Amino acid sequence: MKTLSVAIIGAGPAGIAVAVELKAAGIKNIAIFEKASNFCHTIRRLYPEGKRVDRDYKGIKLTQEGFLFFETETKEKFLERMGKYIKDYQIEIFYNTEINGLERTGQYYNIKAGTHTVAQAYIVIIATGVFDRPKKPSYAIPEEIKSRVFFELPKELPEREKILIVGGGNTAAELACILSGKCDVYLSYRRKGFFRINEENLRELEKRKDQITFLLGTEIKALEPEKEGVRVIFHDGHTEVFSKIFYCLGGSTPRNFLEKMGIKFKDSLPDIDEFGESNLERVFLIGDVAVKRGSIIYAFNSAHRAVKRIIDKYHILFNSLS
Ligand SMILES: Cc1cc2nc3c(=O)[nH]c(=O)nc-3n(C[C@H](O)[C@H](O)[C@H](O)COP(=O)(O)OP(=O)(O)OC[C@H]3O[C@@H](n4cnc5c(N)ncnc54)[C@H](O)[C@@H]3O)c2cc1C
Repeated sequence: MKTLSVAIIGAGPAGIAVAVELKAAGIKNIAIFEKASNFCHTIRRLYPEGKRVDRDYKGIKLTQEGFLFFETETKEKFLERMGKYIKDYQIEIFYNTEINGLERTGQYYNIKAGTHTVAQAYIVIIATGVFDRPKKPSYAIPEEIKSRVFFELPKELPEREKILIVGGGNTAAELACILSGKCDVYLSYRRKGFFRINEENLRELEKRKDQITFLLGTEIKALEPEKEGVRVIFHDGHTEVFSKIFYCLGGSTPRNFLEKMGIKFKDSLPDIDEFGESNLERVFLIGDVAVKRGSIIYAFNSAHRAVKRIIDKYHILFNSLS
C-alpha cells in the first residue's frame, strides 16, 4: 500500500491542476486515482468531436489565478494541453481505479476502491466532477424507449432522424448546432428565452435558425412509446413523435458518495471553506464537485487556492510524516 502526502481523486481539469501545482511547489509523493482508462474522462465522453472549449464558459469571465491556463480552443487541442502538463510534471495517475470510500486512521486517510485500500494519504483532494450523475427529468422514462433517450452523447451521432434536444444551456445549444443540417432538430426549453447560453453559441444558433425548430416555453409532461419513436406529451397538451431525445440538463453533485465519506452539506452543496477544505480536516473538494456551476477555469482556480492553503497550513507537517 502506498503512503502519499496527497491523494487526488479524479483526473479531470481540477485533479490535474492540483497535481501540477503541488509538483511545481516541490511536494513529493502525490498521485491521482482515476476511475476511467484515460485522463479528462468527462471531456472525452461528453464533448462532441471538434467542440470549441470556451475559456469564458457560460459568459462568466474568471481571471486566471493559478499555474494552468488555456484560451478558447478545440477539445482535441485542450486534451493535448492537459496531456503535456501530465508528462512535463510527471504526474502519476492510477487508471481504472474508482474510489468509493475514505476511512481515517490516525493522521492518515485510507483511500478505498471497493473493499481494497489503494493508498493512505495525509491530504485528500476530491475532484470527481458531477457528470457521472447527469440530471434526469422527474417523469418516468418507459423501459421500451430507453434505447432512444440519451443523457450523454452516443458513440455515433444520428443522421436524417427527427431529434428532440431538451435543455437551455450551452451543451443543448452546441448539440443542436452539430446535428442541424444532418437531422431534423427541435430544441425544447422551459423558459421563453435563453439566458445561460454564451454569445458565440447564440450567434451559431441564430445562423441555423431555419434548420432548428425552437420550442421555447415548453415543458414536457410525459414520454410514451410509439412505433419507431417516442411520443412526447407537452404540458399544453401538444404531442409530437421523435426518433430520439437528448437531455442536456447538466450534472448534479454526487451527494450520497460524499456523505458516505463523511462530508457535510449546507444548502445542497458540500460545506467547504474558501479554500475548498471540508468538515473533514485535510480533505478538500475542488472543481465542479464543489460548486453549483463550474467551468475549467474555475477548476484551475480552485486547485490553485487549495494548494496555496495546503502549503500555508500543512506543508511543514509533511516533513514529520512517518
Ligand atoms: C458538454 C459539455 C460542454 C462543456 N463546455 C465547456 C466549455 O466550453 N468551457 C468550460 O470551461 N467548461 C465547459 N464544460 C464544463 C467543464 O467540462 C467542467 O466544468 C470541468 O470538466 C470540471 O472539471 P473537474 O475536474 O471538476 O471534473 P470532470 O472534468 O468531470 O473530471 C472528473 C474526473 O473524475 C473522475 N472520477 C469521477 N468519479 C471518480 C471516482 N469515484 N474515482 C476516481 N475517479 C473518478 C472522472 O472519470 C473524471 O475523469 C462543459 C461541460 C459539458 C458536459
